[in-house]
Amino acid sequence: MADILLDVRHLKKYFPVGKQAMLHAVDDVNFTLERGKTLGVVGESGCGKSTMGRCVLRLIEPTDGEVWFDGQNICKLSKAKMRSLRREMQIVFQDPFSSLDPRMSVSQAILEAVRTGKVMPGASKQDMLKRVSELMDTVGLASRLANAYPHELDGGRRQRIGIARALAMNPKLIVCDEPVSALDVSIQAQILNLLEDLQNDMGLTYIFITHDLSVVNHFSDDIVVMYLGQIVEKASAVELFANPQHPYTQALLSAIPIPAVREKKERILLRGELSSPINPPDECRFAKRCNYASEKCVGCPGLKEISPGHFVACHMIG
Ligand code: SF4
Repeated sequence: MADILLDVRHLKKYFPVGKQAMLHAVDDVNFTLERGKTLGVVGESGCGKSTMGRCVLRLIEPTDGEVWFDGQNICKLSKAKMRSLRREMQIVFQDPFSSLDPRMSVSQAILEAVRTGKVMPGASKQDMLKRVSELMDTVGLASRLANAYPHELDGGRRQRIGIARALAMNPKLIVCDEPVSALDVSIQAQILNLLEDLQNDMGLTYIFITHDLSVVNHFSDDIVVMYLGQIVEKASAVELFANPQHPYTQALLSAIPIPAVREKKERILLRGELSSPINPPDECRFAKRCNYASEKCVGCPGLKEISPGHFVACHMIG
């Protein structure tokens, strides 16, 4: 039986806009994630993927729904219990520069995480510094950089500090929110390889949020594709790349520079305007941009399982 670490049920996050309206940033999202696996979450900017990631960690309070982490519904936990549990659920941000204190050196930044995380109760400063050194080694930061400051480092090294700070808490789950989007392509590969090695060595579980399907191609076990707050397709990465069904997924895949994918299909251009996520009507949110929209597309399509583990939200499929 699958060892489920995370079970997200009917997760919603609405933001009030003015007096009457609600922006449906995350709208009834459901998925499970096995321990030690990676779930890729893909979609355009503004589709709700980062908000969803933060709601899963309760960095933002969900409007509704349940988040079961390691057997407990964390939405029911008090703030104090949540603070303690959050050590096990970490986040790595897109821009490590803005998430690091410019006045702290590499070792100070990691030491701060070790200290505030209270993961070494009763430990001496010397023991904590030893742990800092181990963490630097684990993420591939040379010891000579211990006294360097963020502005003296390139983006890849700054991201390694962010990863070391997350690892300092001995997490089970890490939400990686566009962790390589701000990096050069060659450095992206190094960080992706590092994350993969850490997963293999430590059994980490990842939610990997990105706007770029090519980044999650080899990295994810399963992928969910989000559009305007909703999941429109979810499947194993292998199945999704081989057999994309939702018109939006097909368009995303047609745009990525992977020869094996591009050679099969023409580039699909998305025309038409983006629907509004504010008080969205009960209809397919992709309809205004969909090349296959027809009179059959009535009401909001729910996810249907079209083959084992492959779910699609489209009236024309399944
Ligand atoms: Fe396109 Fe209709 Fe499917 Fe929506 S339900 S994606 S409009 S075909």
